[in-house]
Amino acid sequence: MIRRDYLVIGSGIGGACACEGVRKHDKRGTVTIVGAEIMAPYNRWLLSKDFLREKTPPFKKLAHYDQRWFVSHKIETRFATVVKQFNIERRLAVLGNGESIEFNKACLAMGSRPVRPPVAGVNLGNVIYLRSVRDALALREMADVEKTVMVIGGSLLACETAASLRMMKLKVSMMHRNAYLLNRYLDSQTGPWLTDYYAKHGVTMLVGESLNGFEGKTVLRNIQTKSGNRVPAGLAVVACGAEPNLDLVRNTPLSGPHGSPVTDYLETEEKGIFAVGDLAFYPDRIMGGVRRQTHWENARAQGLVAGANMTGKKRIRYEQIPYFWTEMFDLRLHFVGDFSVQPTRVDLRGTYAKKKFLARYYQGDKLRAILLCNQTDREVELAKKELRHALGK
Ligand SMILES: Cc1cc2nc3c(=O)[nH]c(=O)nc-3n(C[C@H](O)[C@H](O)[C@H](O)COP(=O)(O)OP(=O)(O)OC[C@H]3O[C@@H](n4cnc5c(N)ncnc54)[C@H](O)[C@@H]3O)c2cc1C
Repeated sequence: MIRRDYLVIGSGIGGACACEGVRKHDKRGTVTIVGAEIMAPYNRWLLSKDFLREKTPPFKKLAHYDQRWFVSHKIETRFATVVKQFNIERRLAVLGNGESIEFNKACLAMGSRPVRPPVAGVNLGNVIYLRSVRDALALREMADVEKTVMVIGGSLLACETAASLRMMKLKVSMMHRNAYLLNRYLDSQTGPWLTDYYAKHGVTMLVGESLNGFEGKTVLRNIQTKSGNRVPAGLAVVACGAEPNLDLVRNTPLSGPHGSPVTDYLETEEKGIFAVGDLAFYPDRIMGGVRRQTHWENARAQGLVAGANMTGKKRIRYEQIPYFWTEMFDLRLHFVGDFSVQPTRVDLRGTYAKKKFLARYYQGDKLRAILLCNQTDREVELAKKELRHALGK
């Protein structure tokens, strides 16, 4: 039996930062990180951007924490290894190779996985889900051969992937059931502007259309829409959302319908077991309410906080303003605050035509979010400060 002071499950950015947080405050405790992917924690966000587009896959840019970092911080790594069972009472994790690790404290950082729509043909060849470096390499390879691609969805990932594939000169279509792209975040002026921007960049937009199924014997041939259309496609990228990887703790208090519920300190109901990143359903002390974010900065910052709290030497509340960024064509958008409810009023400074603007989203007279397009990092930091100030935090 292997015994560890700290066990981190999942080697994405959340898990890696949890290790860093632990080591910052406990130089001696034994730490193991177990991750299903073969690579050390990498910049997952790059996969739909430069990693897809550049002639040779830029592995150097992808690296975030390398093996040397773990060695120098005396953290044992078990990559390409899955945790198969997690026994809360016995504080025991069973690995795919049959080994068991008994732990004192644990951090769940299993992230999320692409949602598979419940339609026929989801497992056909050339129907791709982009989550890992393996997926990105497969997509690169197929994009070399297949010249017609359909991107399903209107999410951040769908938009980024469609833009990259178009920049790679593929014939790209997008199918999105809503009237405009990024409808979960954007207001009813900016969303249609962005959708039009895609059309102007040569992306065929099938908005207001829902997926009915994929056709083909072993490999994709056509895509059916619910309205009865049949669109030929040699390749499909499905980007219909991400669901938390909760199988390991299913039917325990560590698993809920929206993620793994945690306290202000990112600790679950089980003392000493924490959850971070795409997995965590946490109380938002800045905007109010409870939320799960599936964004890079959130996973990074939560990992650091949870790691520190795991040592027992710190007791830090997670108090970050919700924030993420995205890139598509020549647009870099930053989202500061809570975009979950459509604004009742938008104050736009700058213009869509110049692709440089800042939009303040209000609920009544209350500022709830700020959207920035092609603004500097300094502007983004100022926006965070402004929102905090407006909220009295
Ligand atoms: C293509 C792409 C582009 C993105 N671009 C952006 C962006 O521009 N901006 C932004 O803010 N966010 C972006 N994101 C989202 C961001 O990458 C995620 O929010 C972030 O990676 C979440 O980190 P995490 O550590 O919580 O989970 P993950 O990164 O999902 O890592 C979890 C890890 O745990 C492993 N795992 C799962 N179950 C087990 C198990 N039982 N045993 C062992 N290991 C397990 C998984 O294999 C995975 O390696 C993007 C995501 C993708 C996929």
